[in-house]
Amino acid sequence: MKHDALYDVVGIGVGPANLSLAALLHPVAQVNALFLEARDDFAWHPGLLMNGSTLQSSYLKDLVSLVDPCNPFSFFNFLVKNRRVYRFLVADQSAVSRQEYAAYYRWAAKGLASVRFAAPVRSVRHEGGVFAIDSGGVTVRSRHLVIGSGAPAWVPPHLANVLGPKAFHAAEFLSREPDLKGKVVAVVGGGQTGAEIAYRLLRSKEHGPKRILWISRRANFIPLDESPFANEYFTPRYADYFYSLPARSRESLLDQQRFASDGVSETLLRQIYQCLYELDFVDQDDRGYELLPGRELVAAHPDGDGLRLKLATDHATEECRADVAVFCTGYKSGLPDYLASLKGLIDYSESGVPVVRSDFSLSWAKESTNRIFVHGMSRGVRGVAEPNLGLMSWRSAHIVNALCGRPYYDIATVAGPVSWPNCPAPSAAFVGQPASPFTRLDELTTVRRAA
Ligand SMILES: Cc1cc2nc3c(=O)[nH]c(=O)nc-3n(C[C@H](O)[C@H](O)[C@H](O)COP(=O)(O)OP(=O)(O)OC[C@H]3O[C@@H](n4cnc5c(N)ncnc54)[C@H](O)[C@@H]3O)c2cc1C
Repeated sequence: MKHDALYDVVGIGVGPANLSLAALLHPVAQVNALFLEARDDFAWHPGLLMNGSTLQSSYLKDLVSLVDPCNPFSFFNFLVKNRRVYRFLVADQSAVSRQEYAAYYRWAAKGLASVRFAAPVRSVRHEGGVFAIDSGGVTVRSRHLVIGSGAPAWVPPHLANVLGPKAFHAAEFLSREPDLKGKVVAVVGGGQTGAEIAYRLLRSKEHGPKRILWISRRANFIPLDESPFANEYFTPRYADYFYSLPARSRESLLDQQRFASDGVSETLLRQIYQCLYELDFVDQDDRGYELLPGRELVAAHPDGDGLRLKLATDHATEECRADVAVFCTGYKSGLPDYLASLKGLIDYSESGVPVVRSDFSLSWAKESTNRIFVHGMSRGVRGVAEPNLGLMSWRSAHIVNALCGRPYYDIATVAGPVSWPNCPAPSAAFVGQPASPFTRLDELTTVRRAA
């Protein structure tokens, strides 16, 4: 086993989150950082990078701009350096395509010397006062870690029996290139991904399925709430406020606010509806569809060449048959397997999730000398915005400040238009130590070490 140098910080996984951190660390000479990515090149959810799919957020929510608009890794600089800024302005798109944004991310990743590709991390140990990170036959040592390896695709365990060529997670949709011509295809899940797959299949006309079943547990196909006061949840001020609330209030708010993050964009719902209209009244072919909200897929079984699906409504069950099922059932965040040797040293809340401090570091046994920062694992304490791109650069700025031990970036929050109940004063500019003003004392007294 070869040994690499000792770094101040190693980031594991290079998706948008750690890429944002790498970009914000770029001008910070005092921090020696390395970012390890399993893939050979940058890719952003490649199995779902479909033609025509667009960002669900503003292109200004890029890797750096909301914290440091002068950083060279902004989307705007990508447009300028790639000589398309005037065309971009004239095109005046209401939403930027995900393919173009993925190209922007790839451009940034190529420009950052701290990013190393083809470096899958297998395990992390804590030994001799540092982390030893095993990555493809090399041991990299680091004082601190940043976990940015994303959330694995999730399929409900009771459907795992059918996983294979006829039933797979949407994250594999493009890599599988399934031949769906003339088939009955069930799209399971009524969120944005389910809608994107359903729309793609509906538009594929004679090359696509002969029948599409779109199944959703939700009572209808529900739009993303993008109204101004819902968008306040995507501000640092609200994320700090949310952190200050008791656990019970946070749980109930998350439930109430979920469609600010989990609904389907209204534009896409309209496009789907228009497609259905065409299918019913304009197109002269025998393709069909069934929209099936208010049904939960409770079981699936092989049935000849296809699948038998059992759907439960509030008070009854139904059965249907499909040749192929695409599970748009989301992702499951949590500690990755490569941290297995540390799991017993990490603190968990009463609800069983790792305790994340206000600077996005984990509460764990050796945090006074070695910090473990996490991206995308704080939904329970920061609110619905946490897994999305909107607060990503602000989160990375917290991590940079904590690594520097000083306020390198300004992360102070300013008061917004709404007086949320019991909202503390806007935060100070520097939040970087475990005992920050936003560390919840009740959580610290109720944590327990895992067995
Ligand atoms: C299809 C899709 C579209 C989305 N669009 C939007 C949007 O428009 N706006 C928005 O706000 N949010 C969006 N989101 C939500 C969120 O912003 C994205 O999921 C975002 O990609 C999360 O970034 P990440 O860096 O945390 O994780 P990921 O993008 O999942 O990246 C994780 C990286 O870690 C690597 N990795 C994993 N394990 C290891 C390992 N052991 N060693 C080394 N590398 C490893 C993976 O290869 C991957 O490159 C979208 C989500 C999906 C699924």
